Amino acid sequence: MKKFVYADNAATTKVSEKVLSSMLPFYTEGFGNASSIYALGRSAQASIEKAREQVANGIGCEAKEVYFTSGGSESDNWAVKSVAKNLAKRGKNHIITTVFEHHAILHTCQALEKEGFEVTYIPIDDKGYVNPCDIENAITDKTALVTVMFANNEIGTIQPIAEIGRICREKKVLFHTDAVQAIGNVAINVKEMGIDMLSLSGHKIHAPKGIGALYVRKGIILNNLIHGGGQEKGKRAGTENVPSIVGLGIAVEEACNIDNINAKASKLTPMRDRIISELLKLPKTRLNGGTENRLCGNVNISFEGVEGESLLLFLDNMGICASSGSACTSGDLDPSHVLLALGLKHEVAHGSLRISLADDASEEDVDYIIECVPKAISTLRAMSPLWERIVKGE
Ligand SMILES: *Cc1c(COP(=O)(O)O)cnc(C)c1O
Repeated sequence: MKKFVYADNAATTKVSEKVLSSMLPFYTEGFGNASSIYALGRSAQASIEKAREQVANGIGCEAKEVYFTSGGSESDNWAVKSVAKNLAKRGKNHIITTVFEHHAILHTCQALEKEGFEVTYIPIDDKGYVNPCDIENAITDKTALVTVMFANNEIGTIQPIAEIGRICREKKVLFHTDAVQAIGNVAINVKEMGIDMLSLSGHKIHAPKGIGALYVRKGIILNNLIHGGGQEKGKRAGTENVPSIVGLGIAVEEACNIDNINAKASKLTPMRDRIISELLKLPKTRLNGGTENRLCGNVNISFEGVEGESLLLFLDNMGICASSGSACTSGDLDPSHVLLALGLKHEVAHGSLRISLADDASEEDVDYIIECVPKAISTLRAMSPLWERIVKGE
């Protein structure tokens, strides 16, 4: 039987049994509208508020500071646009972010630039980390917001968020972080880390797609996203997606449990490092992103003389799901902005492979990856005129 190894958990994860079973009753007997007055509705409402507590407990905030959204992209958009528009009224029209954010942040900032906002894009170093001093130096009296991702989705580097939070607090600038990839890998406490706003997404942590949350520290004005009914304090109208909200609550509770975080790290770190060290044995190969403060499930390697898309199709044929660049950019031919920000040449960035493991990964999965990837690379290189030139040193 053909083996199947899903190694693209940074793109999305499978809904866990525990999450699924928490959700199912809300599709059947518990289908009530949370705004209805009778017991069926009240029980749905109570389940939503329980999930809000679970999310709040996971990141160290109060339940009333948590808003449910459709996912990471919506949370990012809502946070950044809301702060930008509100602080512009007070003459603050400057936003600081980084060059390697998810497009949900980058494209939002670019849209704001078109409206007249000024955005500073802080570079990363060649290992994929932001230097907090660069953030500090970029802050002016016009700065409304700093937004820096907690962990990068392509290269897995975990940023010095508490340090950046401290700087922002000192300078009295609001600080948002996209923690979609960090949840479940790093213990997060928004109060201790000086985080004012935080985005998270369900489908990266074994909850369904289309559900997420935004934490907004009390006192910060959040604009209305959807006008209509009174859901989410009237800021995001529309009948709640009760099953998904319930599932998200369980998923965040599981992901943020410190024993689970530690168990995941002790299990996946050696697996990740085994894949990295085996694949780096191939010639003309490099690891993207540093090894310290790296997500325990993330491998990102560039193979010269190989085309990323062909590699993915080759691996797919062998039953391995992986990614090249980020899932959102596949389909267009530009190499990943993250890899370019690391300083990679276009052709090297094109030949990149991201493997992202979840806590259910097995040693057999790792063996299979280590067996298949080198086979794929040598076959593709044997057919590549580019590789021929590289070998000749042209
Ligand atoms: C996946 C991802 C998002 C987008 O989340 P969706 O729920 O898919 O909208 C945003 N930021 C990062 C870092 C991600 O990995």
